[in-house]
Amino acid sequence: MIQFTSIAQMLQGTDGLPLWEAILESDCRSQGISRETSLERMSRLLQAMEDARRDYDPQQRSASGLVGGDGGRMARYGEGDTLCGPFFTEVMACALTMGECNACMKRIVAAPTAGACGVLPAVLLPYARHFGASREELIRALYVASGFGMILAARASISGAEGGCQAEIGSASAMAAPAVVYLQGGTPEQMAHSCAMAVKNLLGLVCDPVGGLVEVPCVKRNVIGAMNALSAAQMALAGITSRIPPDQVLDAMAEVGRALPRSLRETGTGGLAATPFARERFPREL
Ligand code: SF4
Repeated sequence: MIQFTSIAQMLQGTDGLPLWEAILESDCRSQGISRETSLERMSRLLQAMEDARRDYDPQQRSASGLVGGDGGRMARYGEGDTLCGPFFTEVMACALTMGECNACMKRIVAAPTAGACGVLPAVLLPYARHFGASREELIRALYVASGFGMILAARASISGAEGGCQAEIGSASAMAAPAVVYLQGGTPEQMAHSCAMAVKNLLGLVCDPVGGLVEVPCVKRNVIGAMNALSAAQMALAGITSRIPPDQVLDAMAEVGRALPRSLRETGTGGLAATPFARERFPREL
């Protein structure tokens, strides 16, 4: 989709266009499609996120029985007084909902991966309800997210098998943060710093799925990815910057990913996947 290979290049290469539109134009050029086609595709992704959330069944459990129902639990908790307030509680509920939809083989949007599918919708859909963003604004925010996501993929990784969970939940969080900064009227520089801070805060996160299934710890890590994105976005909007330049943060993420042992890169043999609980439940996977 994107021809940009660095955040610095992307910010400098907008030709005076808003960042979201420069990313859209780049998508059109690289795929040889019209602006209308690109917008239609992005609109369908947003619709798929909304459909997944709407069709969530809190009674359903994954085939393993490990996950299911927590999105409903959090939504019910949100009907009363909560620790984190209505917006954050809805963000958490939406992240759990999407992660559980994926574990239950429902249709989700891999953004950037299925395991991390809850982060972007958990930030964007509740945002629209609480802050009044239009559908058009959400689609533009998705372009911002995709621009940063493609640079993360090109410069570091979006694969747990390659770079650990920092590459999946971390990347999703680093895509969602600049999307929120955009929605809040922040500058491209603030978007870049929010991306960098989101990555830094999850740097080194290992991929250790119990039983090799994208369920535990994946579903709940979507909550952390979403909350981390909002924290990074708010820091950037407050004028806080990443002391390490954003592209160097992405390079550090790539290096950390390469340094992770194989047992912590989606093999389901280390970390939480190697706990007594996991060994007992899935003896053959270890
Ligand atoms: S733990 Fe591994 S499989 Fe689960 S979301 Fe993270 S990277 Fe994906």
